[in-house]
Amino acid sequence: MRHKARKRFGQNFLIDQSIIAKIIAEIHPQKNDRIIEIGPGLGALTKSLIRMVDHLDVIEIDRDIAARLHDEFARDKLTIYTSDALRFDFASLGNNLRIVGNLPYNISTPLLFHLSQFKEHVFDMHFMLQKEVVERMVGAPDSSNYGRLSVMLQYRFDMEYILDVPPESFSPMPKVESAVVRMTPKTKFIIKAANEDLFSQIVSAAFSLRRKTLRNALYHYLKAEDFIALEIDSRARAENLPLEKFVAITNYLSHKD
Ligand code: SAM
Repeated sequence: MRHKARKRFGQNFLIDQSIIAKIIAEIHPQKNDRIIEIGPGLGALTKSLIRMVDHLDVIEIDRDIAARLHDEFARDKLTIYTSDALRFDFASLGNNLRIVGNLPYNISTPLLFHLSQFKEHVFDMHFMLQKEVVERMVGAPDSSNYGRLSVMLQYRFDMEYILDVPPESFSPMPKVESAVVRMTPKTKFIIKAANEDLFSQIVSAAFSLRRKTLRNALYHYLKAEDFIALEIDSRARAENLPLEKFVAITNYLSHKD
């Protein structure tokens, strides 16, 4: 039976075989890889992946789709978790995970934050996302794309913009352009935040008042003399501040008391 795409689950299925081949080539799956696909849908990526690896795990929220996949693929090749990826404990799947997916765009930011928690278990991740989100993920300081998402993800991952994907590559066609990104956990930190909760709070505060100067946005955290000690211009804005400086503020405050 034909599956009717469910908007609430962000279902836009990939139909362009050349794009599918390019994404698979970028993932470059090896037989023994521990690959986890989020949102396999009707199997656009799944079919190629399953041919290339010994075993594949998939996480799919839509029960009807999960049932179809059960019928289509041998159980010894494919484990299907009928779950919400936002609540999924990726640590339970072990280490060196290669997580992939054409992600549901309506939950992409919370999903990326959820996945960041499992950095220690991840080998790499390849995701298709809304192009504008990928631009923010790889955004550099002094650009309008640079924001909370850029800083929080770039703190943990090296990020690579892989390829653009036009709306015609999907059915139904999304209203937005898409892009594929590779995220590889950083093995070495340039500087590590002494307190990651505080780091997250400072980054959120700085970008919540994006158009304001750091002096105003970080008013609760830093006084004039602190900016001088940190060698940060208090008249600058969050989008001018490199990742290392957010970490430096965190560590300065952590060690101050
Ligand atoms: N991978 C398929 C493809 O490329 O054609 C489908 C991609 S579609 C954009 C997103 C898929 O994620 C759908 O199958 C949808 O049901 C599933 N999905 C949506 N929300 C999810 C969630 N919270 N957890 C797991 N899967 C989810």
